[in-house]
Amino acid sequence: MYDYLIVGQGLAGSLLAWRLINHGKKVLVLDDGHASASSMVAAGVINPLAGRRFNHAPQIHEWLEAVETTYTQLAQQAKEPFLQWLDMLRLYHAPEQYRFYARLPEQEEIKDLLGERFPSNEPPQPVQAPLGGFTQHRTGYVRLPALLRFLARWLRERQALQTTTVDHEKLEIHTEYVCHEGWQARGVVFCDGYRCMHSPWFGYLPFAPDQGEILTLRQKPEARPGQLPDMIINGAQWLLPMGNGMFRLGATHNHHIQDNQPTEEGVSRLLQGMETLLKNPQLLELTRSEAGVRPATSDRQPLLGTHPGYPRAHVFNGFGAHGSLMIPWYSEQMCRWLIQGRALPATADIARYGNEAA
Ligand SMILES: Cc1cc2nc3c(=O)[nH]c(=O)nc-3n(C[C@H](O)[C@H](O)[C@H](O)COP(=O)(O)OP(=O)(O)OC[C@H]3O[C@@H](n4cnc5c(N)ncnc54)[C@H](O)[C@@H]3O)c2cc1C
Repeated sequence: MYDYLIVGQGLAGSLLAWRLINHGKKVLVLDDGHASASSMVAAGVINPLAGRRFNHAPQIHEWLEAVETTYTQLAQQAKEPFLQWLDMLRLYHAPEQYRFYARLPEQEEIKDLLGERFPSNEPPQPVQAPLGGFTQHRTGYVRLPALLRFLARWLRERQALQTTTVDHEKLEIHTEYVCHEGWQARGVVFCDGYRCMHSPWFGYLPFAPDQGEILTLRQKPEARPGQLPDMIINGAQWLLPMGNGMFRLGATHNHHIQDNQPTEEGVSRLLQGMETLLKNPQLLELTRSEAGVRPATSDRQPLLGTHPGYPRAHVFNGFGAHGSLMIPWYSEQMCRWLIQGRALPATADIARYGNEAA
């Protein structure tokens, strides 16, 4: 008998399984070979001041601390780095953003996130910045595919990962135990990304799946030092330099499509955006286009907790566009909830949607 079956080996299922196993729990992760893993497509950018309004969450420093400790600990185990801190150049792309920026320096708790401002057309990087902008600290990115490959190996070594599709019709959730194709456990945790919206148990939660496309680009041999950015650039679109002349460019948002197929329209929209972002866009060439579906929610908060009518069914999901930043901290909270019954953060607890599904 397992303690937990975990459905999904994206970043959410992987980090939760890693923590539960480190606490001595017997876990089996069931994943269909990353068939719909947004974690395998994501650039893994960490940005504590989100969106055009530069908003931040009250727990931002706890999130950043969990980012540092979790990915560093994993890197030590893997003997391979996963987290790369890299400053971000934030470019205003609408005049109202001056107003949104103006309230930031007054907030003591985020002073360490803010760097220099720069005036219009004088950016410290080879980008076009007609409205100016500012530098941000404590930003960076996580190499998610490498991390998930390491965690898949780590789980397999412990007989804790099976490649299979969990068929909701075949998953039995009883009062005393759960069972899927002969694997019995005391509970099941759904970390299945946006497909959770079709779950007979958690489909009542307000998922708002957000399809996104993203490109991989390579610098051409004629590019000279200083002609392309070496910081993360974030304006209407973002560009991430990943070293060795490789870049990622993203990302689109579409609430109507729910698949992981890139489209011609998405690719050309991103490439057009790059033309207005860079001083030397001709020095980059496209090598790959990908798409995935972010497990976003209508209130933009994650979904953690236990089903009101099925105490053996749990959910750990809803990380939208910010999984790399949020999952390290929330996986600790979820682990404590499962093992010790310690209360979940109220803003993330699915109890906020009441007992309507009971
Ligand atoms: C284009 C794009 C760019 C992004 N960029 C960033 C970024 O820069 N920074 C950032 O933090 N986030 C980014 N994200 C969001 C990020 O991908 C998510 O926040 C995070 O990865 C979600 O992880 P997850 O484990 O919850 O879901 P997923 O990674 O989707 O994992 C779910 C897993 O469950 C499996 N699964 C589902 N149903 C079943 C079933 N029935 N049986 C078996 N297996 C099943 C899936 O195949 C998958 O492997 C981006 C997303 C996209 C699409």
